[in-house]
Amino acid sequence: MKEIVCKLLVIGAGPGGYICAIRAGQLGVDTVIVEATKAGGTCLNVGCIPSKALIHAAEEFEKVSHMTSPNALGITVEAPRLDLAQTIHWKDGIVGRLNSGVLGLLRKAKVKIVHGQAKFRDGKTVEVETETGTQIVRAETVVIATGSEPVELPPLPFGGAVLSSTEALSLTSVPSTLAVVGGGYIGLELGTAFAKMGAQVTVVEAMSQILPQYDAELVKPVAKRLNELGVRVLTGAKAKSYSGEALLIEIAAGAEERIAADKVLVTVGRKPRTEGWGLEELDLDRAGRFIRIDERCRTSMRGVYAIGDVTGEPMLAHRAMAQGEMVAEIVAGRKRTWDKRAIPAVCFTDPEIVTAGLSPEEARAQGYEIRVGLFPFAANGRAMTTQSEDGFVRAVARADTNLVLGLQAVGAGVSELSSAFSLALEMGARLEDIAGTIHAHPTRSEGLQEAALKALGHALHI
Ligand code: FAD
Ligand code: NAD
Repeated sequence: MKEIVCKLLVIGAGPGGYICAIRAGQLGVDTVIVEATKAGGTCLNVGCIPSKALIHAAEEFEKVSHMTSPNALGITVEAPRLDLAQTIHWKDGIVGRLNSGVLGLLRKAKVKIVHGQAKFRDGKTVEVETETGTQIVRAETVVIATGSEPVELPPLPFGGAVLSSTEALSLTSVPSTLAVVGGGYIGLELGTAFAKMGAQVTVVEAMSQILPQYDAELVKPVAKRLNELGVRVLTGAKAKSYSGEALLIEIAAGAEERIAADKVLVTVGRKPRTEGWGLEELDLDRAGRFIRIDERCRTSMRGVYAIGDVTGEPMLAHRAMAQGEMVAEIVAGRKRTWDKRAIPAVCFTDPEIVTAGLSPEEARAQGYEIRVGLFPFAANGRAMTTQSEDGFVRAVARADTNLVLGLQAVGAGVSELSSAFSLALEMGARLEDIAGTIHAHPTRSEGLQEAALKALGHALHI
């Protein structure tokens, strides 16, 4: 049995784990990372990157499909064809490039990579079954970054035609009918993509609104577009069983309906990967199903940290990365604590939604008196020239000081506003700071300046 002794052991090479290991390596910390499958984790292999690739391909296909008949732009094409197997091959190429990139960065930072599943022997020692035999790794400090996996519904176990997001991202033909159970992030991002590629999509959402984590004003343009794309949305509905051809669902007050479905995509949330690898024996404190952490990502066991999805919401790659970077610096002896004002969130639907900080409702619930400025893209020149005028930018600020508490937008391409939103919040911007910043014309970002001006009572273009 081979044994390695190191200062830092990182378990899991997703965005949390690989960033933690790279930064630790850069700081001269003797680091080992263990990965059971492929470097990059959920995000790079079966999450953020492949889903955005598929969304892009679907958008392009839908765009040209519209050009088969005369249109305002005056561009016409013959009927386009989609070869999904080729699209998936292209997506796999991007994933492959990024996999190698992450491995290269880890090597450059002098991190030792062990391939295989880590199993805890005790809080400072893991055993890894590798291709060349059992490897023991002993460390002074351990970071758990094992991520999350899809939640399964008992009446719809994964397998065959019942897909999780992982299988949906590798289909080689477009299903003619697709039922999506769960109208959250994944269900709507992928449901919209498959609808654009030609599938007849039905979304079954248990709550009274799709994307229940966002306020109704932000979700409205997304619901409108789903309707235009022919996606049927059933809210307050629950899936009961699947026959192989139809999904049986329960709507209001016990009424049932059968929905034709060649495939069923179940996207009802994700759960932390905490079972089957000896973590139970450590008996760490939990916050529900997740590992409980403090403001330095410390768990209840000395010298054991946890980062990323395994520690709970929001389960976002950039949160995992920020935690990973912070923990690496703490392990290297620097004084760091979680002091972020905002973790931006983007939903890559059509149109996109981006939020940072507090919504008007959240701000009021926290006792703030607020002023809100909303600027519609219908009054934005750039939006007109790109034929996508739906949506708006909204600014939420304290009424007494004009300190910006939250920024939100819905509209085509607004994901790229996320950095401006976060920067404003991190720097403690007031409405006057945003209003007084020159925003390039013609861009959608002018909507941010105008929303701030609107909250101050003197918008210029509405
Ligand atoms: P993970 O990425 O899950 O990585 C954990 C790693 O640990 C895995 O590689 C796993 O193999 C490994 N591992 C687990 N147990 C062991 C063990 N015992 N031994 C060794 N290795 C182990 N987030 C965004 O911010 N933006 C998006 O656009 C976005 N899109 C998404 C789309 C989809 C379809 C999905 C499913 C998720 C998406 N997410 C997105 C969420 C994002 O993928 C996660 O928040 C992120 O991957 C979490 O990173 P992590 O490092 O905590 O865990
Ligand atoms: P989600 O929490 O976003 O959505 C799950 C949805 O399923 C909710 O609307 C919920 O009300 C509904 N639901 C739950 N049980 C149900 C049932 N029995 N029947 C019908 N509906 C039901 O979860 P997800 O879409 O699986 O995504 C998981 C996580 O991955 C997200 O929380 C997010 O953190 C991350 N993610 C992020 C992005 C992004 O940043 N763009 C994209 C995809 C995933």
